[in-house]
Amino acid sequence: MDERVKSSDAGEAGTRSKVELLKEGSDYLRGTLREELATDATYFPEEDVQILKFHGIYQQDDRDLRQQLKREGKEKYYSCMIRCKNPGGVLTPEQYLAEDEVASLYANGSLRITTRQDFQLHGVLKQNLKDALRAINEKLITTLGACGDVERNVMCCPAPAEDRVHSQIEWYARLLSDRLLPRTGAYYEVWLNGDKVVSTEPEVEPLYGTVYLPRKFKTGIAFPGDNCIDVYTQDIGIVAMLEGDELLGFNVLVGGGQAMTHGIKTTFPRQADPIAFVKPDHLVPVVETIVSIQRDHGDRANRKHARMKYLVEEWGMARFKTEMDQRLGYQLPPATAIQWEGVDDHLGWHPQGDGRWYLGVYVENGRIKDSEDVTLKTGFRRLVETFRPGIRLTPQQNILFTDIAEEHKPAVNALLREHNIAQLSEISNALRYAMACPALPTCGLAVSDAERALPSVVRGLEREIVRLGLEQEKIWIRMVGCPNGCARPYLGDLGFVGRTLNAYNVYVGGDFEGTRLNQLYAEMIPTDLLVATVGPLLVMYKEQRQPGERFGDFCYRVGVEALREFAAGQASS
Ligand code: SF4
Repeated sequence: MDERVKSSDAGEAGTRSKVELLKEGSDYLRGTLREELATDATYFPEEDVQILKFHGIYQQDDRDLRQQLKREGKEKYYSCMIRCKNPGGVLTPEQYLAEDEVASLYANGSLRITTRQDFQLHGVLKQNLKDALRAINEKLITTLGACGDVERNVMCCPAPAEDRVHSQIEWYARLLSDRLLPRTGAYYEVWLNGDKVVSTEPEVEPLYGTVYLPRKFKTGIAFPGDNCIDVYTQDIGIVAMLEGDELLGFNVLVGGGQAMTHGIKTTFPRQADPIAFVKPDHLVPVVETIVSIQRDHGDRANRKHARMKYLVEEWGMARFKTEMDQRLGYQLPPATAIQWEGVDDHLGWHPQGDGRWYLGVYVENGRIKDSEDVTLKTGFRRLVETFRPGIRLTPQQNILFTDIAEEHKPAVNALLREHNIAQLSEISNALRYAMACPALPTCGLAVSDAERALPSVVRGLEREIVRLGLEQEKIWIRMVGCPNGCARPYLGDLGFVGRTLNAYNVYVGGDFEGTRLNQLYAEMIPTDLLVATVGPLLVMYKEQRQPGERFGDFCYRVGVEALREFAAGQASS
């Protein structure tokens, strides 16, 4: 058996990873953050970098400048990424305006919507961190637990609807987020100038303990029929089950995760499997129980093997379910059948059911910024200041403006036009269904570009799609700068996964509903050959598809060998 697999029962002293020891020695995530913030240094030492993540902060450096600065004998250009926690992607207009202001005052001027419905702010210098965090927290937004080995942002279908059942499901997303938040006082002491509470009672983390979880943990709730949150990618995927407008309960799935490491076969993306049906009142204890199993049995020796998906894979569903039932003290019934009707990205105008409307606006790769042509950031800010809509960030990195009165719709449209912000009818399907992670130059794990590379790749594919008359087809195109898979590239029709600088592995054959992993089609394809690599597959699809067959389903049906053969034939003809 492979070493990495054997290590899943590790946890004794001597077999734990360095990060485990750091967490344990951090005094519930304090580390030496306060002391470091008081120095003039432009960066935090490695020990604190690990602890900072739990506070929602990644220390990064400008990767574009690294070599040049090294040659000049200068230190790296350090800055931080701050990730906010917005359960279900929900913000008030005041919170949106605060994020916008912090982005302008302390970050690089842009807001980044993530694929988990958070806001990220890039380029915050160390000396500005406290001011930025305070401004964010003043509007009741936290960054605690947005990164690190704890529950991340709890996702939820963002579509607003004024019916009871939608409100209930959103309420559960917020409840889970609150219950899974770390309890440490460190966050308030470090960032909000709180003094350490002197107490005779020892500080405790009732769920996480002193070493928190072995690795990050992701949970999301899907609305029935609409897999817009990619429920199969979650450590715990939850699907609400309804009868009419009554919430019967939830199907709970476990063991999803996208990350893998190139060249290490014991790491792989995995889809979550249904494990039980849970009544609404039991959801929180069931989720806490699953988290506790991962806390106690996840791999604490090898961080590349520490996500719960590996535990689920190695134990099997039967053993995992038995452990759940034993910890709960009762037996959960099996999950019921799950039906998907598709994935709704919620773009365009939609009635909310209460006489008001919501508008979903496309944001390319989630980046809200002003450019010469399109003043997205200014336009959104004016829209929020003028109409005070609710805000929802979507899992496809777009934004919804909610609670808009019918009579305001023309003025909202006019305002967006004034800022050259595209209406839905002006956006091609190729662009609409494309997503990229930030990657270079900010992400420390990136080996290649994603956000900067995808726009030209998508536009090249778009030209090919139009040439073939396939513009009505909906095809997911997802690009990431490393195999960690933040933009969920192993689901969907086409995945481009950074392999090395400017070269990608190409995956094909997932389905639009996000229920099937795709497969490796080609390796190490340079950025400028991606369109030429995928082009023959589109030609074959056009010529050989069955009526109504989607691109991903076609690739899956014929298989990668047949796709490669066809492409080779095209190349030699
Ligand atoms: Fe960074 Fe990799 Fe995630 Fe992209 S997928 S943001 S490169 S860790």
